[in-house]
Amino acid sequence: MKLAMIGFGQAGGKIVDKFLEYDARTGSGIVQSAIAVNTAKADLLGLENIPEENRVLIGQARVKGHGVGADNELGAEIAEEDIDEIQGAIDSIPVHEIDAFLIVAGLGGGTGSGGSPVLAKHLKRIYTEPVYGLGILPGGDEGGIYTLNAARSFQTFVREVDNLLVFDNDAWRKTGESVEGGYEEINDEIVRRFGVLFGAGEISADDNVAESVVDSSEIINTLEGGGVSTVGYDAEAVEEYDSGGLLSRFKGGDDDDMETANTTNRITSLVRKAALGRLTLPCEIEGSESALLVVSGPPNHLNRKGIERGRKWLEEQTGSMEVRGGDYPLDEPSVAAAVLLSGVHNVPRIKELQQVAIEAQENIDEIQQESEENLEALVEDDEDELDPLF
Ligand code: GDP
Repeated sequence: MKLAMIGFGQAGGKIVDKFLEYDARTGSGIVQSAIAVNTAKADLLGLENIPEENRVLIGQARVKGHGVGADNELGAEIAEEDIDEIQGAIDSIPVHEIDAFLIVAGLGGGTGSGGSPVLAKHLKRIYTEPVYGLGILPGGDEGGIYTLNAARSFQTFVREVDNLLVFDNDAWRKTGESVEGGYEEINDEIVRRFGVLFGAGEISADDNVAESVVDSSEIINTLEGGGVSTVGYDAEAVEEYDSGGLLSRFKGGDDDDMETANTTNRITSLVRKAALGRLTLPCEIEGSESALLVVSGPPNHLNRKGIERGRKWLEEQTGSMEVRGGDYPLDEPSVAAAVLLSGVHNVPRIKELQQVAIEAQENIDEIQQESEENLEALVEDDEDELDPLF
């Protein structure tokens, strides 16, 4: 499916930049337009693939290109004040050629955390195309303020978009790695998962015709119920189909049947591993409102039976009657299953995030009150014998 991607803030910009790289490498054609919006000039300069004319610096009058720190209320205010500048860049998008907007942002910071929900609300008022969010939750070690920002932004962002796809840095961080190095890998994971998913609806006429193609309308329908979504993924390396290989020596003339059974089994086990393994947002998959299964790989390693079995299994596990599935032929030496679970409800991580955020909020209030009292105690003389000038 064709997307207009808007990266808001540093994380958002970097990830959209990476989607462009993925697009160029795989030819998936999902990024119709890419825009970066930021209050920090340096972050915009650091981007590699987003065209310069599509990089929008907002809030110059307020923060002079230096960013908003982690103040997401300021981020939201600036986005509102400068919405015309963002719209100016969006005006260059051929909106009739896109299937949806995707706003990408780290929810723990300031610019993207505060600005994304404002932009989503604006886009929904103007356009009829769906507006999706890709929200990144902070790592648990980032500190209270980031958690508080994320919890507040999450609440607002979910309400303003047609569906919020979530990636949780906390579930993916590795100990002992530099933050930057860690993000490099995490961003690859984000782009791979969402790339396969959105790319599935983007098969061009000269591609291998899929047995049961995933159309972009199926992605849209899966996300239509709104709420929060998560993505599971698993892949297995395969060798090119070889009918004279080892298997045929075991099975004589039945190698075709054997290959079919192998293909089917591989797909069903990949679907299970994808759904039960690490999700972009870890949660209980039971109770998901809808799901979409995409199986990608070389055409001779894809079959309808495997996908149908995987789809049925997902129906049982989620309890949803709305599970779609299809294949996505790719010229790669591996078969992969990507599972989009939409409308998930049972997400302990969100409850934990909110709890930590509430504690952080209380702490901040306490510290602020204490520091006001301390300052007063310092400035005022004990017997109140001095008068201020005015
Ligand atoms: P902003 O520029 O004020 O919107 O804030 P940032 O985007 O710099 O940071 C917001 C949050 O995003 C951080 O707290 C991190 O959790 C996360 N983050 C920052 N950079 C990256 C990145 O490259 N990849 C990922 N996955 N997360 C990031």
